[in-house]
Amino acid sequence: MSHTLSNTLSNNKPKTYPTPGGVHPPQNKSQSTGGPIQQASLPTELVLPLSQHIGAPAKAIVAVGDKVLKGQCIAKANGNISAYIHAPSSGDVIAIEPRAIPHASGMQDNCIVIKTDGEDNWCALQGCEDFRLLAPSDLIAQIRLAGITGLGGAGFPTAVKLITSDTQASLNKAIDTLIINGTECEPYITADDVLMRERAQQVISGIQILQHIIKPSTSTLIGVENNKPEAIAALEAAIAEAGSEPGASNITVVSFEGKYPSGGEKQLIQTLTGREVPSGGLPADVGIVCQNVGTVAAIHDAIVLGKPLISRITTVTGQACAQPQNVEVLIGSPIAHVLAQAGFDADACHRLVMGGPMMGFTLTDTSVPIIKATNCLLAASEAELPTPPPAQACIRCGMCAEACPASLLPQQLYWYARSKEYDKLEELNLFDCIECGACSYVCPSTIPLVQYYRASKADIREHKAEMHKAEQSKVRFEARQQRLEREEQEKADKRAARQAAAKAKLAAAQTGGEQELDPVQAAIARAKAKKAAKVAAAEQAIATATSETAATNPAATPTDEAN
Ligand code: SF4
Ligand code: SF4
Repeated sequence: MSHTLSNTLSNNKPKTYPTPGGVHPPQNKSQSTGGPIQQASLPTELVLPLSQHIGAPAKAIVAVGDKVLKGQCIAKANGNISAYIHAPSSGDVIAIEPRAIPHASGMQDNCIVIKTDGEDNWCALQGCEDFRLLAPSDLIAQIRLAGITGLGGAGFPTAVKLITSDTQASLNKAIDTLIINGTECEPYITADDVLMRERAQQVISGIQILQHIIKPSTSTLIGVENNKPEAIAALEAAIAEAGSEPGASNITVVSFEGKYPSGGEKQLIQTLTGREVPSGGLPADVGIVCQNVGTVAAIHDAIVLGKPLISRITTVTGQACAQPQNVEVLIGSPIAHVLAQAGFDADACHRLVMGGPMMGFTLTDTSVPIIKATNCLLAASEAELPTPPPAQACIRCGMCAEACPASLLPQQLYWYARSKEYDKLEELNLFDCIECGACSYVCPSTIPLVQYYRASKADIREHKAEMHKAEQSKVRFEARQQRLEREEQEKADKRAARQAAAKAKLAAAQTGGEQELDPVQAAIARAKAKKAAKVAAAEQAIATATSETAATNPAATPTDEAN
């Protein structure tokens, strides 16, 4: 696959490309960037949902009562799109049961619960001194075993995105560009910004590992908005430091004027390369692999240090937090525990959001845990996230369409979502909607457009799942019918065979019976013959005796006249 060379080191000021739509909400990022990354304290209990990522839930491999060490695998990936889960600290497994999880619906799901022992003892770790000695497929396997998922918020298992034509010959997806997403466009969130500022070397090392795996033939681009000068400087210094190492000189930091949502994967790809990922397609379809900076740093930890993904940097912010901050927190830590460290005031909190104000969802239960995808906890005051006024009728102003970064028609989608016309929604590419909320943000009628799209997507997925289930049931029913018919046919065949055999036997018996009757008839015939012979002998004897008497005494011989 070949693509236009769009960004190379030969161009000192890397080119960027315009993208459709986008909005400029207030950033509110400075609140949480005032200090360095903090370490969250160890909670007494860690709650690890088996489903923290897109794909199938992991399968627990520990039992209640087991002792576990920090970093020990406690749940295995269950299928290709699934992720391993590891104990974030040492302790005892005290439950494997449904617990409240961070989800917009407030639902419960199966979780492994670890009571920490305070020791925080690691299991043995196996780092790699020189990852270049390992085959890309081995590195991908290690990334999978380390349970790494996308840390930008989507939570897709990382290893799956790394399978390209270089690592699996059957795939016709040659990659020419590796893009690292350092674009954190959603208001309030600064987790990636501080990571790049403080751990740029870790990021560059992770990028070099990815280069070794993917072998991008053209370039490696780190996309960062120009409102993050410290992060850009730190990355460039780290690249310079790694200058003589393979691949380092091919890494370019591309800064650009940001807008929301320029950090969306498709939007960033278009900004940096001018290429459009086709509807329903993947970045690999246009020769690109894209990974978030946090994910890249986690890849470094997994390969170089042998550490699985057990913690992440989360922004804890909002006016209901006295000390907004970025904190490195163990996955599974209860949100209440993390909020407490940031001076959370429940009374001042109007709305607690996981994620940012545009794409996040409201949490009603602070006992739910931090998961791999938790990039932000926003404890917002009433002034920050006021209750929106009631929605009014659509005035067909078209502002939503102008704001849409995916070039969709939000107004039409809204009508069809309301009338549940799912076919029309799919025709209008509802599933290209990245749920950025830009349309809702600009709508003068304050219609919660994105909520309609989310609900419609869920309905369509459910409908499709039901159709799939019904289809499978039909296939199973038909297979059963065929089996029953086959068995019936086999029985009938056997019955016919038995009848044929019986007939043949009968025929044989009849034929064979004649042979058996012969001796009887012969015996009868013999008896008759014997009897006839006896009679004949007796008559002969009488006749002889009579003739002898007549010869000696003719008077004794009765004559015909005498009779
Ligand atoms: S922005 Fe709101 S009011 Fe305007 S067309 Fe879109 S849905 Fe209608
Ligand atoms: S939420 Fe969807 S429809 Fe609305 S602007 Fe974003 S991508 Fe477009």
